[in-house]
Amino acid sequence: MRIDLHSHTTVSDGTDTPAELLALARSIGLDVLAVTDHDTFEHLPHVRAAAAREGVELLEGMELSCELEGHSIHLLAYGMDTEDPTLLAEMARIRAGRADRLPRMLAKLAELGVPVSAAEVLAQAGTAPSIGRPHVADALVARGHVASRTEAFQRFLADDGPAYVARYNPDIRTGIDLVHGAGGVAVLAHPWGRTSSTVLTESVLAELVHQHGLDGFEVDHEEHSLEQRARLRTLATALGVLGTGSSDYHGTGKPQQLGCNLTHPEVYAELCRRIAVTDGE
Ligand code: AMP
Ligand code: ZN
Ligand code: FE
Ligand code: FE
Repeated sequence: MRIDLHSHTTVSDGTDTPAELLALARSIGLDVLAVTDHDTFEHLPHVRAAAAREGVELLEGMELSCELEGHSIHLLAYGMDTEDPTLLAEMARIRAGRADRLPRMLAKLAELGVPVSAAEVLAQAGTAPSIGRPHVADALVARGHVASRTEAFQRFLADDGPAYVARYNPDIRTGIDLVHGAGGVAVLAHPWGRTSSTVLTESVLAELVHQHGLDGFEVDHEEHSLEQRARLRTLATALGVLGTGSSDYHGTGKPQQLGCNLTHPEVYAELCRRIAVTDGE
């Protein structure tokens, strides 16, 4: 079984449409794909239809923007009730924060000599309800200021970059509780990746498991070194939680390919069991 539990479409900051993503999943022989657009459920009706057409098993997901001590942390939610009013309200608040910071980010870019307009960014975002820095990056590329999303982040948009502007995020502990409140399974995305490794120490991960029932974390992710993967795998086993593997595929927006990391079938079976338990409550 080939199982990839983290991917994005044009409904957030991926560059493949839901139909393109599921067709690709089938063509590379994935059995299961979770589609986890940022802070929205709007991808789900589209990916459900596409998954049925392509004969790929879909795990319904979403990547919730959270933070801890000012550092960005991403939380994957799986199998949740997509009509849970508390979770929906928080997601709407996060999306509003995404839109609110855009003018300040554009002002900084103008000061840095690489101006783009809000209209240009919105044109790149299309109908995506979650506007993100990758859309700003695309506008910078379209203007010829940079050659790629990667260069836009390296020079301007990264968390420690000169055009960075913080936006609203719930605390990670609140995020985990919200996902559980909606009957979902909560798995930390790339805990030791670019932005969150300094705050998500082994003891903080253990605390999130013991005090908030965190269900697991990504082990095999492109932003983790082989040494980090080994340590995270050992830690997941010691804590009795899910250690997943995923591509975090964004289409042409990032270098990693769909299916470049996979989740073990036994881990996926346990994830499905945890979803079924909450469904039965
Ligand atoms: P935002 O959602 O606006 O905070 O932007 C963060 C998103 O930008 C992440 O979810 C990634 O998809 C993307 N991202 C972060 N760093 C990079 C990078 N160096 N290159 C390309 N995309 C990135
Ligand atoms: Zn993204
Ligand atoms: Fe992420
Ligand atoms: Fe992601």
